[in-house]
Amino acid sequence: MKKVVKFGGSSLASAEQFKKVGKIIRADASRKFVVPSAPGKRFSGDTKVTDMLYSCYGAAIREKKFADQLQEIRGRYQEIIDGLGLDFSLDQDFEKIRENFGKKIGRDYAASRGEYLNGKIMAAYLGYEFIDAADVIRFGEDGSFDEETTNQLLAKRLEDSKGAVIPGFYGAKADGTIVTFSRGGSDVSGSLVALAVGADLYENWTDVSGFLIADPRIVKNPRSIETITYKELRELSYMGASVLHEDAIFPVRKAGIPINIRNTNAPEDKGTLIVEGTCRQPKYTITGIAGTDGFASITIEKAMMNSEIGFCRKVLQVFEEHDISIEHMPSGIDTMTIFVHKDEFEEKEQQVLSAIHKTVKPDHIELESDLALIAVVGRGMRATRGTAGRIFSALAHAHINVKMIDQGSSELNIIIGVRHDDFKNAIRALYEIFVVTQI
Ligand code: ASP
Repeated sequence: MKKVVKFGGSSLASAEQFKKVGKIIRADASRKFVVPSAPGKRFSGDTKVTDMLYSCYGAAIREKKFADQLQEIRGRYQEIIDGLGLDFSLDQDFEKIRENFGKKIGRDYAASRGEYLNGKIMAAYLGYEFIDAADVIRFGEDGSFDEETTNQLLAKRLEDSKGAVIPGFYGAKADGTIVTFSRGGSDVSGSLVALAVGADLYENWTDVSGFLIADPRIVKNPRSIETITYKELRELSYMGASVLHEDAIFPVRKAGIPINIRNTNAPEDKGTLIVEGTCRQPKYTITGIAGTDGFASITIEKAMMNSEIGFCRKVLQVFEEHDISIEHMPSGIDTMTIFVHKDEFEEKEQQVLSAIHKTVKPDHIELESDLALIAVVGRGMRATRGTAGRIFSALAHAHINVKMIDQGSSELNIIIGVRHDDFKNAIRALYEIFVVTQI
């Protein structure tokens, strides 16, 4: 059994957190490959080391003094080293970082030091070997990620390893230039390591016990999701649910490696298991509910629209030409509605409208803003009759007017459009009917 374990920033923010992590790793001999983030927030209002590094490097770039900021960052690491009682020094590393900041070596290099230094401490603490991600995670000349070379480099380097720490978030081009993934990218690094070593499980340790069925800022104490498929997760993340970096799914998914989201602060909780497929019946008809605010809709009406070949294409082309992405597109016999992000649309609104008038000569165009979209996602919906009916009835009881309903052809999700003011109540009503009362 081989497990890759990734720990997020809040799991590694202090010596106390490091100790919890050490205990977790030592409790299971198969936890051989460790991918750490940089130290995150120790308390609310604290600053992540990654952000401190960005700001420190910003000062260096502007030719301002950055020694104090760097010293503060160093303090964060020293606190961890001292708290763990390690006989270990980062003196040389900080000297090198100071020098490189002075040379303005690059913003990605600066940010990557957060994981690099934390990885060094982690390796010393566990007695595992430290592997610089710059040697095994490869980016191409143009800065795009090189999947194939990375997989080869990682697999070869980790082949005989008895235990290794590979810092998350960054890699390098062949010439050594450091490149980072986007924020939260250590999740991606963990997934790449899991793929390369052929892990049985990718454990992603964070500060929540997995995914919750609904946003806890909207629904009080929502239950957590035990098992979710990759597809369901995509649907929910697309609608705003976030615990895991989106790109972290793809490498492991390809190899059929499950991801287990676990809580460093409650290691006895099972967390959420993310799998390719499962025969396990979901507990509820729905797996999760997620939603996003800030949409606008454009409804185009024209008599006999459906017999006009090319009508939809022409309309869509207008949006493409104005570089606006379309989120949803429910249609009727003589109407089609296009949902877009309000801020993307607003500034180009008049140009888009006049272009639609010019190209398809509609009878009428109606605009509506302040809309929210809610996704009700669940593999269980396929086998259950009446899900849409239950949605309508829950929302009607809550006096919410449904502006749009769109069932994905996979029968995995139903998207509902409501007014911004109804957004939270709609989510609460749906949670109530599918999870609490289950009627
Ligand atoms: N430390 C980086 C960030 O704050 C990457 C990560 O934690 O995954 O985004």
